Amino acid sequence: MDRNMENTNISTIIKKMSPEQYKLTIGEKSAVPLQKAFPRKRVIHPGAMGKMIPPKSYQAIWHDLLAQNNLTARQRTAYIHIPFCSQQCLYCGFFQNHCDNDRETLYIDHLIRQLKAAKEYSYLQASPLEAVYLGGGTPSALSDSNISRLLIAVQNLLPLTNDCEITLEARVNDLVDKKISSWLVNGVNRISIGVQSFDTEIRRRLGRKDSREIIFENICRTASYNKAAIIIDLIYGLPGQHVEDFILDLEYTKDLPIDGMDLYQLNVFEDGALQKAIKKGILPVPAPISEQGVYLEKAAAWLDNNAYRRLSTCHWAKTSRERSLYNTLTKAGKEIFPFGAGAGGLIDNTAIFLQRSLDLYINDIIADRAPVMFMTQQSDLNGLFSTIQAQAETGRLDIRKLSQKYGKKLLELEEIIEIWINHGLLKRNGQYTYMTIAGQFWQENITQTLIELSQELLCGEKQFIMQPIAR
Ligand code: SF4
Repeated sequence: MDRNMENTNISTIIKKMSPEQYKLTIGEKSAVPLQKAFPRKRVIHPGAMGKMIPPKSYQAIWHDLLAQNNLTARQRTAYIHIPFCSQQCLYCGFFQNHCDNDRETLYIDHLIRQLKAAKEYSYLQASPLEAVYLGGGTPSALSDSNISRLLIAVQNLLPLTNDCEITLEARVNDLVDKKISSWLVNGVNRISIGVQSFDTEIRRRLGRKDSREIIFENICRTASYNKAAIIIDLIYGLPGQHVEDFILDLEYTKDLPIDGMDLYQLNVFEDGALQKAIKKGILPVPAPISEQGVYLEKAAAWLDNNAYRRLSTCHWAKTSRERSLYNTLTKAGKEIFPFGAGAGGLIDNTAIFLQRSLDLYINDIIADRAPVMFMTQQSDLNGLFSTIQAQAETGRLDIRKLSQKYGKKLLELEEIIEIWINHGLLKRNGQYTYMTIAGQFWQENITQTLIELSQELLCGEKQFIMQPIAR
């Protein structure tokens, strides 16, 4: 232990913070912690920044990682990115390309080539994947022939557990029989539908065309196959949406044949299409972040009263069919093998982002090069950070357990836990500390602070990640 680290303790770290830093990192006591425990959300996805790897090393590192033969059994997943959407939704920061049949077919040809190459990766083939996630973009936008080819390749070329969760993200207007059959016949066992809101007017303002009646009809059609878990995404805090509208959205789910739902708060990205539309007065100003907590509070009470089972801070199960395995494993820092343009992954502590540009991706595949856009070496403490994240996702913190595995010094975090108990964000029950609803709402801030403080306690340094949220 170097001298700096010996002298690093929570009190000295806190003393060095400016008042603004303290408010943002530790927060402040308020009569209404749900609204005012922190001045704003610090990050969308908590974590620590890795060290950039020089581009000249990408190819060698990719091949070395995937040619390893020293694997002990571990939980792992794959992510497959489909970078096409039929239209750009106003609130979304993930749009890449408009749908185009010829481009899609060309893309799927090359994606399958990447999967074929994966058949030779000893490291990937050595232990089966527990979950595969097809996200985007809009995987459901693919023609039934292209998605069938892709799913057959996934089944034949990737090592999958017998109960592998295979999720496909879908838009409501793609839920037609021909497409649904092609997904279910080829192994999809979880369909995640981007509903966002059942309010026809609110949806249409955001660029989603279908009416509430069409959504109901299409969800029922998909569920009638009885072959996959049906999950819906809802967003709270949308422009023009009041708390009562959001609770009404939840009421509608009572009679729908769904297995679970994901509730996300609206993020307005700096300079994004949504922010521009709000600034121009085309859309009403949405509830500020300080008020979004009220939506979550009311929703959590409603979900409790209606016997939904909480799987993480934003995922709820209605039936035993919903496992949300991919989300749970990736939040806990398990490996993700990335496939496709724009996919991100994590292999043996190296974070990997594949070429976002379709042309660059396809060119790399043609040239038998790893289609890497950039790589970062994650901290040696990544296991600790993932454990913090996994604990926070379940709404339950256990500092004692962290300290047993990663060092007694982490017990000093209890000082911060006490502050947060005093702020109304946490409450103690036995050896665990549970997040109150306010704590759950500010979960990203709590997680990010715990990650940074544990890094500083153990290494005498910290790294921030900051993702801009406009409000
Ligand atoms: S929300 Fe989905 S469909 Fe809409 S632009 Fe984003 S990725 Fe595409």
